[in-house]
Amino acid sequence: MSQQGYVATPPYSQAQPGMGGYPAGFGSSPAQPLYGHYGGQPQSFPAPPTGLMKPVSSPSGMPPSEVSSQYGSNIQQNGAHPQRYPAPPAAAAASPYGQPPNSPYHTMAPQAPAQQLTNQMGSMNLGYGPGPMQNPQAPPTSPPAQQPFQTAPPPTMGQSTLGPPPTGPHSPQMAPPQSPLTGPSMGGHPSMGGMGRPFPGPPPPGSGGFQQPGPGAAGQPGYPQQPQGQFGGQMAGPFQGGAAHMSGPPQKKLDPDSIPSTTQVTEDDQAKRGGQVYTTNLRGQVPPLVTTDFTVQDQGNASPRFMRCTTYSFPCTADLAKQCQVPLGAVIKPFATVPKNETPLYVVNHGETGPIRCNRCKAYMCPYMQFIDGGRRYQCGFCNCVNEVPTFYFQHLDHMGRRVDLYERPELSLGSYEFEATLDYCKNNKPASPPAYIFMIDVSYANIKSGLVRLVCEELKTLLDNLPREDGAESSTVKVGFVTYNKILHFYNVKSALAQPQMMVVSDTAEMFVPLLDGFLVNFQESRAVINNLLDQIPDMFADTNESETVFAPVIQAGVEALKTAECSGKLFIFHSSIPTAEAPGKLKNRDDKKLINTEKEKTLFQPQKGVYEQLSKDCVSQGCSVDLFLFPSQYVDLATMGDVPTHTGGSIFKYSNFQVEMDGEHFLSDLRKDVEKAIGFDAIMRVRTSTGFRATNFFGAIHMNNTTDVEMAAVDCDKAVTVEFKHDDKLSEETGALMQCALLYTTVSGQRRLRIHNLSLNCSAQLSELYKSCETDALINFFAKSAYRAMLNQPLKTVREILVNQTAHMLACYRKNCSSPSAASQLILPDAMKVFPVYLNSLMKTGPLVGSAELSTDDRAHQRLIAMAMGVEDTQLLLYPRLIPLHNMDVASDVVPAPVRCSEERLTDAGMFLLENGRSLFLWLGQACPPELVQRVFNVPSFAHLPADLSSLPVLDNPQSKKLRSIIDSLLDQRPSAMKLLIVKQKDRSEMLFRQHLVEDKGPHGGASYMDFLCYVHCEIRQVLT
Ligand SMILES: [Zn+2]
Repeated sequence: MSQQGYVATPPYSQAQPGMGGYPAGFGSSPAQPLYGHYGGQPQSFPAPPTGLMKPVSSPSGMPPSEVSSQYGSNIQQNGAHPQRYPAPPAAAAASPYGQPPNSPYHTMAPQAPAQQLTNQMGSMNLGYGPGPMQNPQAPPTSPPAQQPFQTAPPPTMGQSTLGPPPTGPHSPQMAPPQSPLTGPSMGGHPSMGGMGRPFPGPPPPGSGGFQQPGPGAAGQPGYPQQPQGQFGGQMAGPFQGGAAHMSGPPQKKLDPDSIPSTTQVTEDDQAKRGGQVYTTNLRGQVPPLVTTDFTVQDQGNASPRFMRCTTYSFPCTADLAKQCQVPLGAVIKPFATVPKNETPLYVVNHGETGPIRCNRCKAYMCPYMQFIDGGRRYQCGFCNCVNEVPTFYFQHLDHMGRRVDLYERPELSLGSYEFEATLDYCKNNKPASPPAYIFMIDVSYANIKSGLVRLVCEELKTLLDNLPREDGAESSTVKVGFVTYNKILHFYNVKSALAQPQMMVVSDTAEMFVPLLDGFLVNFQESRAVINNLLDQIPDMFADTNESETVFAPVIQAGVEALKTAECSGKLFIFHSSIPTAEAPGKLKNRDDKKLINTEKEKTLFQPQKGVYEQLSKDCVSQGCSVDLFLFPSQYVDLATMGDVPTHTGGSIFKYSNFQVEMDGEHFLSDLRKDVEKAIGFDAIMRVRTSTGFRATNFFGAIHMNNTTDVEMAAVDCDKAVTVEFKHDDKLSEETGALMQCALLYTTVSGQRRLRIHNLSLNCSAQLSELYKSCETDALINFFAKSAYRAMLNQPLKTVREILVNQTAHMLACYRKNCSSPSAASQLILPDAMKVFPVYLNSLMKTGPLVGSAELSTDDRAHQRLIAMAMGVEDTQLLLYPRLIPLHNMDVASDVVPAPVRCSEERLTDAGMFLLENGRSLFLWLGQACPPELVQRVFNVPSFAHLPADLSSLPVLDNPQSKKLRSIIDSLLDQRPSAMKLLIVKQKDRSEMLFRQHLVEDKGPHGGASYMDFLCYVHCEIRQVLT
């Protein structure tokens, strides 16, 4: 963001030891000899040897008396239950938290070495010529004449005969891939004609992903432009071609079962690691996949629920990193929900002086601090500075050099914990106040007429009983306030002493102020009667309104001003219908222009209007004011601009187009309930510290950055993630590894100031094979999605897609060149941990934001772009590879959800019924030949033909099929961050198009290649890189 006109007021500037204490110049830590923080032990957190554990009481002598007592009195579990940190079991000393000491992964076997695709895929027969693993019966390589790409075949393509996957609708189900060459013959050809060869020639220099535009360079592509016309004429970009068919002799059949399968990878990981305890005691350990069901036991590294990395083994040098082009990143979800069977975070209090921190780099006390000199000093694991141990914190060391109280102190033995923050960490050195929630309802004609206003008011009467509270607290301390608006704003005094609420009108929206101090923000319990009275009156007060114009920026401004006045942080819930056209600051106009699609200017559709909204974001962030926007548009609203403040303040955007209470009411209310009730922290500032040799350089999320290191979030809730990119600035040591500490200072829902710390230690290696072995595809695709969605603001979509493919080809080519055993160039070889990366990447390029189709609404594309920016790994995984669950053969007697199948039309059957969900959309698809008994049992109509066209919910029926299906849907809805509206889709109906765009292995209905074609194409790119 431009700094222009914005007076940066660091909110914590007076708190020197606190957040203001972030030293300038951090990040370029002085090069110092490394002492080996782990005493030569390559694994960071070996469980203590049995019998070493000392009793809690400290030995007499050195330590001040408060040492032993301090712990017990100052540590409590998160929330209000004072609960002692469990003392280590005396006998089973090796297990600090009472769990089995040896995790199943303690001696994690090295993953299978580089696997060749021929191994993984068993039988993929792409006609790439005989390779080591190829079936000896494979026919000889086809002649060059069978070039599938119609235009300008590059020389390297000559010998490939890329047999197409079937494309005919509802082909018979594939036979299992018993033999690569005996599957049913595939008739169709891919429609790749016209797509040319989009990525010819060497990759652009320095192609290592998306470059951040420098300050003041906004709008300039940070990436070298590809010369026009290089990509086969008028092509909009890769895989945008219309249908054209290959000529030539019939192609060899390709078995779709033979290419790497996400569902298989998911199932395999669940089978191998599901249901187990994952202990975090090892450095560089790769966690189970996000889709796997496992329990985490923190033993010194943050749970993967809080932090996941693109790779758990960083390359030692910048050269290696550049060579492989695998982004080094972490996806941090600081408030991730911890399941009930896992321990909540402990809260540590270091007393009046605040948390103990390294004097130089300000890192917080953590398991990576090495105590030396008999326990009198400690060496920082991040910057190597040697610090004095404060007297009250002194403890003796055992013969292994570890503090004897190691396992009694969360900050010495756990990956994640919280510190109570002192006044130094509070704004203006004043204690924080509990946050406030302000409900701001657009009462213009559209919202009144749709019934939305009445629906919201009715719901709030009960919903406000569920405001977030500290664990164990009887009631919430969050205050509430109410505003209604159209062209003018109405504030309400709902002080408990009043018999009737009072309205105050502000019609001068240019100079927004809050007309009342006392009685605007109140405790719901105390003012319940007045508030309910108000909520009853609002729908009637505006029932006859003709006002169709609205303001928007002044509404946010009013909310910020109210929080400023109350000196608290908080959240605005805005329920808004239309583009704000009324004469006021932040007035918007329709700038939607489909003609811009696939041109250099397409990016402007997604760039927010600057000025008022940019300034508002800054005001909101400095006040700790998060904005959640519920939109109910019937036409274009310039979502790119209206969503700008929410996406810079840790907020969310919900959109219900053409809202109808009967059809969409429940969907909206479910979202609202989840949103109001969810766990959240306010007025947050996050800092990611790293050990020497690398640092965090780039951040993606619903965040605001006022400088290069402090991630400011007006609020951060349990679903929001920040993706961080790391770069080398020196060599990393294999011995010490790469350490990171994420520290989040925030205000709890009860107004306490806290620091939440997440520590993670990774391995470092001079061998790239280690990096590839330790990759996590799901985290990688999260990184790629966010970086591409940001890059599309500054570069043409075509360029963005090219960079994605180029970088992928480079990652895979580097693996091939450096890590795999020699094999024929014609073989596609993928690292095991990345083998399904291409299907995710192809799916990403087919998402609304990147696909460049005039058939999609600009607001929808902008919306998808904005919400994805704050997603965690689970959410992007599911978004880019939806779950397609067959339901026609489900075992109604068991609780098990049927195993998902691959997202392809081929997996559908005419006699089938399938559920598809991606965390945003939920479909129930019915084949035309769906058995009438099943239709009867689920829908209570005699057959498929009797199903009404506009069905949007399932009847509640008392039979096993109906019950099981509804329970599957309910449990899905329960797990996802946002609610989903069930769409029932009949095969061959018009609505099937919506469903089909989620079949990500197929050719995209709005453009984009099938998985099979894309894989062939990536292979060509890899070969290009290698030659
Ligand atoms: Zn330090």
